[in-house]
Amino acid sequence: MDLESKEVFDSLQKKYGCRYCIGDLTPTVCHLFGVPAPETCGGEVIPEIADQADKLMGGEGRTQRAVLFCADALGENQRRHFPEDFALIEKVAGFRIRSVSVMPSVTPVCYGTIFTGAAPCVHGIQKYEKPVIKIKTLFDAFAAAGKNVAVLACNGCSIDTIFRQRKVDYYSFHENRPGELTAADGQAFEFTRRFIREDRYDLLVCYMTNYDHQMHLHGPYSPEAAEQARLAARRFKQLQEDMDEYWAKYNRALVFVPDHGGHPTDETHGGHGSDLPEDMIVNHYYRICEGR
Ligand SMILES: [Zn+2]
Repeated sequence: MDLESKEVFDSLQKKYGCRYCIGDLTPTVCHLFGVPAPETCGGEVIPEIADQADKLMGGEGRTQRAVLFCADALGENQRRHFPEDFALIEKVAGFRIRSVSVMPSVTPVCYGTIFTGAAPCVHGIQKYEKPVIKIKTLFDAFAAAGKNVAVLACNGCSIDTIFRQRKVDYYSFHENRPGELTAADGQAFEFTRRFIREDRYDLLVCYMTNYDHQMHLHGPYSPEAAEQARLAARRFKQLQEDMDEYWAKYNRALVFVPDHGGHPTDETHGGHGSDLPEDMIVNHYYRICEGR
């Protein structure tokens, strides 16, 4: 347990009245699989998720397959504005874990924390930049335990770049036309579905960028952004159906993993990165299922 990270997380949790933080994902997913979490983790295993898995699976560390659906910028503020979409996500998952993000609340800083369990001052990305992270990540922990991991994302995005140089298969999809991120997101999603069907990996990380992209361009509540929130909820539901069909025999977990929220910056644009509840509070949703 890294105390420097823990101190950062504790203070943010207190400030925002959240029991959990986004740095809890790595230790929690490691616990589910019975894999030792990196020593630099400052997050904690979320007890209600661990308890549910231990109960359904008849012991600790028995999860065999997982999909982490990383929907950029779909935080608590978005849940309030798109209640139907988030009701679907919550219905699929069962568990909603209200969590505080980290500062500055921008993508590489936040996903850096999510997949290391460490605060930005420990994982090293403290502003909008995308170097390869040097400390141990969830992916190193899984590789060391002999698990097969794939990360599927659009070319050059944070998730595509900051976790490189590990024993991970990286699938990086390009925009068909400039500004056409929908196509890259769709490819990441369809290949994730295919890998569930073909049972190729123990852990799949599927990134979706386009709500964030549309929020910046048109505002967080614009029809363009709303369409992407709806699509994220539908994709999450589809992943559940695919996992239930093709991975029915496995103990499994599906998690909805946003990095931060977002707020209007003027009448027609949105942004994030600030120390505001709209940017800093997110929900991570966990679905835990036993194999039959
Ligand atoms: Zn982001």
